[in-house]
Amino acid sequence: MQKTVDIIGGGLSGLVVGYELSKKGIKVNVLEKSGKPGGQIEATKIKDYFIENYYHHFFQGDWDFIRLVEEMGLKDNMVWRYAPSGFYTNGRLYKFSTPQDLLRYSPLNLKNKLKLIRMLLKIRSEKDILKHDNITAKEWILKSGNKELLDKFFRPLLRSKWGDNWDRVSAAWLFARIGLRSKRNLFGEKLGYIRHGWQQLTNKLVKNIIKNGGKIEVNWRKQPKGGVIVDTRDKEGFKFSGAMCVVLGLKRKLSDFYWINIIDNSSFGAIIEHTNFMPFEDYGEHIVYLASYPTSTSLVWEMQPQQVFDKYFKDLRIVFPHIRRSDVNWYRVFKEKESSFIPLVGMMTKINRLKLKKGNGRFRVGTLTAFPEAYSNIIVRNAKKCAKEVLDEISAA
Ligand SMILES: Cc1cc2nc3c(=O)[nH]c(=O)nc-3n(C[C@H](O)[C@H](O)[C@H](O)COP(=O)(O)OP(=O)(O)OC[C@H]3O[C@@H](n4cnc5c(N)ncnc54)[C@H](O)[C@@H]3O)c2cc1C
Repeated sequence: MQKTVDIIGGGLSGLVVGYELSKKGIKVNVLEKSGKPGGQIEATKIKDYFIENYYHHFFQGDWDFIRLVEEMGLKDNMVWRYAPSGFYTNGRLYKFSTPQDLLRYSPLNLKNKLKLIRMLLKIRSEKDILKHDNITAKEWILKSGNKELLDKFFRPLLRSKWGDNWDRVSAAWLFARIGLRSKRNLFGEKLGYIRHGWQQLTNKLVKNIIKNGGKIEVNWRKQPKGGVIVDTRDKEGFKFSGAMCVVLGLKRKLSDFYWINIIDNSSFGAIIEHTNFMPFEDYGEHIVYLASYPTSTSLVWEMQPQQVFDKYFKDLRIVFPHIRRSDVNWYRVFKEKESSFIPLVGMMTKINRLKLKKGNGRFRVGTLTAFPEAYSNIIVRNAKKCAKEVLDEISAA
């Protein structure tokens, strides 16, 4: 059986489908538009190390991803660390890593803290999140909590992720997101990382595909030749939102937190200090992401990298006035205009029903099919599922 499968897109989805099929003797062509594979897990070489263009970590229980990392021979580089997080609001930084921190969080009064805990427990115990896909997160928060919890806790978080669409996002998404992020104990949350960078995962996948007889074509601008086609960038009329990260190499540390959610108005929704997660010695400088999810109409998409940097750096100095321009060794601006579908009311149900097999030798996989959210574990799980469906179709032919 010598069949060829064209895979459009050389991000994690395309590489995993390519690896799985090539392992079974299928000839694959991974067709990538940009100059190198990786997509959203792409990394940039700075001096003698690689750093992801967008912050990346994985969660406990991400078994599909963990197994892939192991299969690629990277088990020894997989590390788990507590990742301290905080909130910045009203000009103050609050620790927000553990359940005890929530009780100490003074912007909320005791009654609302207890209400918030009840809401979080309810969300965590919900088995059928799609039951909540017919109302917005905002409506659910007002119904189960109150306006103060919306204004002081949920709204800034929703806004920093979904911009002006924040009040149209489904409650089902909120349930999925909080369910994913609430595996905390009394010490906080342990997150996983591939020490020395996810670039190693991309490299290993590429190497294995080529070893198995497959091809990776970059700067690809043509149409696939026909036969079986797996499309990893199918958008099928769904509305997508973008992501923008300013990455900084700094001489000075900002804080002790890995992740700070910015509740006050700012150009970015989170400050992610990577070197409070991974050792400073791996880089020799402090690595920081200023992460934002601008709406499609935002002016930042048209700005030059220096303008974006100036704007974001000005807001960074509001949070950390001690940091100066002379502390910045380098900066990079990365943007992806369509990184994940916007889970408007009813959309989670629709996405959940999408089939990987479209018929006539066409398959879809990737961010559109990643229910409930586009992150690497689900991307890998779906890519493996897709490869299996392609194999079944080829063997049935
Ligand atoms: C800011 C940010 C932070 C993230 N953090 C995390 C995290 O901490 N943990 C986690 O698990 N996940 C995280 N993710 C999500 C994760 O990176 C993605 O879900 C995953 O990489 C998506 O892989 P993909 O291959 O489906 O899509 P993509 O990576 O988008 O790959 C699609 C590929 O298709 C190519 N392409 C597009 N059009 C064409 C065309 N016409 N022809 C050929 N090729 C084309 C693109 O260039 C791209 O390489 C993050 C994403 C972002 C944006």
